[in-house]
Amino acid sequence: MRAAGVPRAEVEDTVVSNWQTAWSSAQAEEWTRRLIPNLKEWLGREKGGLNFHTTQLMTGHGSFGKYLNRIGKRQTSRCPYRQEDDAEHTVFNCYRWEGLRHEIRHNNLTPDNLVSLLMQSNNNWDWFSNFASTVLKSKEEEERHYRR
Ligand SMILES: [Zn+2]
Repeated sequence: MRAAGVPRAEVEDTVVSNWQTAWSSAQAEEWTRRLIPNLKEWLGREKGGLNFHTTQLMTGHGSFGKYLNRIGKRQTSRCPYRQEDDAEHTVFNCYRWEGLRHEIRHNNLTPDNLVSLLMQSNNNWDWFSNFASTVLKSKEEEERHYRR
């Protein structure tokens, strides 16, 4: 509820700023906070709609060995190359997806600049969405085999 006479934009600024404080102080996964250090910028974005697979990459909750191991769905937290498998490993390091990383190499993307650079163009974001669905569909398919 807002007090009479307080402009709406000012109220929203306060809400976002309180949220930013909570965000910065560990109520989100460390990985997600690293990707989205600035909530106001993220919430005000014009590009960058999320879907099932991009959400997995941004939260780390999905077909990643480390996560599946943590929730008891897999015995190992490692990928087939014996590395700890989490969202960061999947996007930036896993040898397996090297052929899909052209945008990362070309734009020198890192976990710290990824989201703000992706938000700057539809092409960048489309690349990220395609990367997410290609890689995660493949990982999900593997999980189905793994469980048998
Ligand atoms: Zn790997």
